[in-house]
Amino acid sequence: MMNENSQAPVVIIGTGLSGYSLAREVRKLDKDIPLLLVTADDGASYSKPMLSTGFTKEKTADALAMADAQKMADQLNLQVRTFAQVTAIDGDAHCIHLGDESIAYHKLVLAWGADVIRLQLDGDATDRVYSINDLMDYRSFREAVDGHQRVAILGAGLIGCEFANDLRNGGFEVDVIAPSDTVLPGLLPPQAAAAVQRGLTDGGVRFHLGKAATAVNGDAAGVSLTLDDGSTLAADIVISAVGLRPRTELAAKAGLEVGRGIKVNRQLQTSVADIYAMGDCAEVEGHVLLYVLPLMASARALAKTLTSEPTAVSYGSMPVLIKTPSCPTVVSPPAAGAQGEWQEEVDGNSVRALFRAPDNTLLGFAVTGDYVAEKQALSREVPAILP
Ligand SMILES: Cc1cc2nc3c(=O)[nH]c(=O)nc-3n(C[C@H](O)[C@H](O)[C@H](O)COP(=O)(O)OP(=O)(O)OC[C@H]3O[C@@H](n4cnc5c(N)ncnc54)[C@H](O)[C@@H]3O)c2cc1C
Repeated sequence: MMNENSQAPVVIIGTGLSGYSLAREVRKLDKDIPLLLVTADDGASYSKPMLSTGFTKEKTADALAMADAQKMADQLNLQVRTFAQVTAIDGDAHCIHLGDESIAYHKLVLAWGADVIRLQLDGDATDRVYSINDLMDYRSFREAVDGHQRVAILGAGLIGCEFANDLRNGGFEVDVIAPSDTVLPGLLPPQAAAAVQRGLTDGGVRFHLGKAATAVNGDAAGVSLTLDDGSTLAADIVISAVGLRPRTELAAKAGLEVGRGIKVNRQLQTSVADIYAMGDCAEVEGHVLLYVLPLMASARALAKTLTSEPTAVSYGSMPVLIKTPSCPTVVSPPAAGAQGEWQEEVDGNSVRALFRAPDNTLLGFAVTGDYVAEKQALSREVPAILP
C-alpha cells in the first residue's frame, strides 16, 4: 500500500538508549525532518548500564537522569510524548494507537526494548520483589531499599551479578539465589564463571546456587524466601534479575514477523513496509543482542536509511564488559551453535578462556582478572558478528 502520510513525522516508539541515539544520529544528518518520540515512561535520558553501578559511583536515580524529556526535545528539535503507552500499530493505515487516540506516521521505528521475565512466586510479599529495567524502576528500588540492610537477588546472570557487586559496594548484605550451578550460565565457561563467583564471594556476596525461590512472605521484620529445597532465607527486599525478553507482542498482533525478537533485515526493516526495529526488541538477521554497542551501530545505519540512502548495519566484534569490579570480566561469546571448544588457563582469579574452532580459529573469548588487559588484542582476532 502507498504511504499516504508523507507529511507525518518519523515516529520512534521508545526513549531508551535506542530511541534517543537514533534521534541524535538523525539530527546529525537532517536538522528538520519531523521526529516524534512516544514513550510509556517519563522520557528522561539516562544510560541504562549505569543502573548497576549506582552505589559504586554514588549516584542516585536523579543523578543518573542526564536530561528530562523537555530538554531532549529542545536539544534535538523533536517532540516527545511521555507516559504514552502505544497499544496497537496499523501498518496499512500508517498509524499507531494509544488507546482511542491515533497518531499518523510517515516511517515508524520500534525501539521499545525488552521486558523483564517475571517469576511466578507464591506468598504475601511479592510486592517487595523489584525488577530493575529502567530508571523509574531504579528510583522505586532505591526508595524501597533506603534504611534496609539485606537484599536477596534472584538470578546469577549478568544483571544479577552486577547488582550483587554494586550492592556490596553500597554496604548491603547480599544473597544471590539461582537454579544454575554456576554464575553467568550460558555466557562464561566454567573456570571463568568460577573466578567471578570467587571474586564476588571474597567481596562478601553469599551464593545459593542450584536452588530456586518458590515463595516470598513478609512481615514488619522483613521477608522470608522459601527455596525449592525447603530452606528459607531472610532479607528485607528482593531483586528479581532472571532475564529479559524482547517486546514482540504488539508487533506480532500487527502482523510483523517475529522470532525471539522483531525480525528485521540488515537495513533494520521489519516484514511490514515503513516499519523498522532496533535495540533490545529487534532480531537482526537472527541476532538478539541486548547490549549497547549493537544499538549504537544500528542507530547510525538507520539514521542514514531514514534520511538519505538505505544502509545496512554492520556489527564488528562486540565484547561485553561485565561490571563486577570484584573480578573484572570481559566476554565475547562465540556465535550460537559455533563448532569448537573452550580452552581455559587459570591463574588464581585470572582466567583466559579461548573458544577455538577445530582449525584453531579464535571464535570467542572470556577473560577475567589480570587477563582483562588482553581484551583489545583478542577482540581484534575474533570474527565480526555481522561483517
Ligand atoms: C542493569 C543493567 C545493566 C546493563 N549493563 C550493560 C552494559 O554494561 N553494557 C551493555 O552493552 N549493555 C548493558 N545493559 C543492556 C543495555 O542497557 C540495553 O541493551 C539498552 O539500554 C536497551 O536500550 P533500548 O532503548 O533498546 O531499550 P529500553 O531502554 O528498554 O527502552 C525502551 C523504551 O520503550 C518504551 N516503551 C516500551 N513499550 C512501549 C509502549 N508500548 N509504548 C510506548 N513506549 C514503550 C519504554 O518506556 C522505553 O522508553 C544493561 C542492562 C541493564 C538492565
